[in-house]
Formats: sequence, structure tokens, C-alpha cells
Amino acid sequence: MALKGMDIFKLLPKSNCKKCGNPTCMAFAMKVAAGGITIDKCPDISAEALAALSEASAPPMKKLAFGKDLQLGGETVLFRHDKTFVSKSLYSVSVSAADVDAKLPGIQLIDYDRIGEQMRVDVVNVEFTGDSGKFVDAAKKAQGAGRAGIILEVTDAAAAKAALDAVKADKPILNGANAGNWEAFNKLATEAGVILGVGGKNLDEIYDTVLKLEGAGNKNLVVDVTAGSIKETFANAVELRRAALKDNDRSSGYPSIVNLHKLAGGDENLQIALASLFTLKYGSIIILSTMSYATALPLYGLRQNVFTDPQKPMKMEPKIYPVNGADENSIVALTVDFALSYFVINGELERSGVPVNLVVADAGGYSVLTSWAAGKFSAGTISKFFKEAGIEGKVKSRNLLIPGKVAVLKGELEENLPGWKILVGPNEAAGVVKWLKDFKG
Ligand code: SF4
Repeated sequence: MALKGMDIFKLLPKSNCKKCGNPTCMAFAMKVAAGGITIDKCPDISAEALAALSEASAPPMKKLAFGKDLQLGGETVLFRHDKTFVSKSLYSVSVSAADVDAKLPGIQLIDYDRIGEQMRVDVVNVEFTGDSGKFVDAAKKAQGAGRAGIILEVTDAAAAKAALDAVKADKPILNGANAGNWEAFNKLATEAGVILGVGGKNLDEIYDTVLKLEGAGNKNLVVDVTAGSIKETFANAVELRRAALKDNDRSSGYPSIVNLHKLAGGDENLQIALASLFTLKYGSIIILSTMSYATALPLYGLRQNVFTDPQKPMKMEPKIYPVNGADENSIVALTVDFALSYFVINGELERSGVPVNLVVADAGGYSVLTSWAAGKFSAGTISKFFKEAGIEGKVKSRNLLIPGKVAVLKGELEENLPGWKILVGPNEAAGVVKWLKDFKG
């Protein structure tokens, strides 16, 4: 929350001593409010005032570190079109003692790069099903799966303690505090230095428990908004976020857990539809029953779009991408580094079944025509990129297929890239399948 100059002024010593380089305390306060100077430049400010100011100027929603380099919360806006969201939703798969061995290998299979971001199941949720010893074993197996985070979903204090003792080095979330057990769980979580998940019958009950935990000095919390129905869970997630960001209620300003494993009854398609919904509104950690490549691809693609700054186009790394097992003698195709252009043409090249070396040129992250119009995809920039990236040393073929929309570059490219045969492809990517099949190199 932005602080007003008068709020800051009230906390200053008001001696007008000028040690901060300002003529008066009021001038200093106005400068702090405008972001021109930091509050610690007043040497006489009390520790209490400093603490009060940093509390008041903290974001309305807690930002928490979790597991291995994971981050939750810290959001400042309700809508992504206002400003980019801060912490991407994390996806988790739930395991229990009964199915941990069957599920973990599948979880580890999801591991691929998309536009520079590694897509994985971020978190393993370990569900307690009644046997403490088996719960601890499942938690250890989850720890061994090498994911970035673990959630211990348990409301039994003895089982929680045993599992925490086993895996607390990985800084799991202990998700199980409620109106009945919050004191014992608060003790367990604070002693282990881990985030505590708070649940309850409804949002009112959860809120009361959060107030009690805050009163006991614990603000290292997440709220499990999962209720008995999809509708109520959605209402909880939205209400919590709105109360934090619109009403500036700090006791609502905690990241959330949404457990679709409980809500979707194992229906994989329903889970993915709901996971997409809660990625937008407002699941910090979304727990699913299962995850496969088929369900991961659209979900992770959506997340990458939602949590990327729309002002910065998603770019591929400029380099050669061999398609269909291409070797150095395969035809070379050229495209730009705008991610969408890459994915469209790459899909069509794969569909053709013809081995092709796809060269993604540095074009500022714009599409073919936009980058051409901006002078970022010209014969000069392309030949410069070919030299800098050493393309001629990496492939032996001298057949270069360029997009039909920039056919105008053919003549100049032939001059700038001597020895290359410049081939003009179809106007639309879909036409490249037939073009390649008909091509006799
Ligand atoms: Fe006021 Fe502190 Fe600046 Fe002195 S140093 S004028 S007390 S703000």
C-alpha cells in the first residue's frame, strides 16, 4: 500500500534537525512518500516507527518462500490486465501411502522446456490416510522424487510431527491447522520453521483460526480454501483475494491452496478445466489427482501466458532447432523468434515428417511481418545472424526456405548469403507440409 506523506510525518521525531539533508521533517516525509528517499535516511527514527512503517508499506498479500526456490503470494492486483501477477500458480499432484509408488514415476515424467521455462509438477502433496508410519514413508518417497516442494496434508498432530521430523529439511508446507488443533499445529510449524496451512468448515471459521494464529505470532500461513463444492471453493478463493487486495485486510492476505483431488473426483478433464479456472482466480497451489502430458501441456501453456509480462513478447532462443531428426544435410527453414510463430511453423514442419533444420533468427521477438516492417527481419539482420551464430559451420545444406510473406527478401538474401539457394515458401505455415513433400532438393 502506498503511504501518504502525513502518515510518515506522524512517525518522525519532528525535530527538523536536517540530518537527512531536508529542511524539515515534513519535506522528508513527502519525499519518502514520493519514493525519492528511504525512511532509514533519518538517523533519529525509532525502531518501533520503522517497524510500523515497514508493516504498513508491505504488500497487502504475504509473499512466502517455500521448498526449493518456490515463491507464493505477494500479489498486488486482482486482474492480470491491471499488472502482471507476481507468483505463478504452482501445480501439485496428490499421493497417499496406497498410491505413492504408482504415481511418483508419472509425476517425474512431466519435465520439458517451453520458451525457456522448465515445466514440471512443482509440488507433491502427501495425504495422510490414517497410518502414521505409512504416511512418513510416503513423505520420504515424495522427498526422493526431486520436486521443488512438498505439502504434508494431515490433521493428526502425532502423524504431522513424525512426517515433519522426516522431511523438514525440504521446508514442506504443513497443511492441517483448523479450529480444533491450531495450537498444536502452530507449535509444530514454528518449531520446524515451515509454512502452516489453515483450513476449516467455511471461510469465517478459517478467518477466526488465522486471527488466533496471528495473535500467537505466526504469519507464515497459507489458507486452504477447498470446501465441499466447486462453487463454494471458488467463492472462498475470490473472497479471500478481494478482502486482501480491495479491502486491505491483512488477515486475508495469504496465498491459497485449492485441492481439486478432493473436488473433481478423479475426473481428469474436469480437473484440468478447474485448474485453468483457479490459475486465473486465485489458486497459489493447485492440487490434482493425476497429471499426464496431455493434461499438462494446455495447463502449463495457460500459466506461462498468464504469468508473463504482456509487454514483453515470449521469445525463443535464436538458434538451429532440428525437426524430424534433421542432420547437417537437411534443408534449412527460416523463421523469427516470436514464440507463437515458432510453435505454428514447428508444428507444421513436424506434420510434414521431412527432416528440416529450423533456424530461429533474432528478430526482436516479433512476428514475421511485424519484425520485417520494423527492420528487425531484413536481409542485413538475417545474414548478420547467420554469421554470428555460425550457421554455415553447423549445416552443410545451402537450401534456405524463407516465409512466403517476406518473398521480397529473396534477391537481397542471395547477395548477402553467397552460395545459398533462397527458396520462397508458402504464405501460410499450413502450406509448408505439401511444399516440403513436393520439394526435390
Ligand atoms: Fe526530521 Fe529526521 Fe530529517 Fe531530522 S533527520 S529533519 S528528524 S526527518
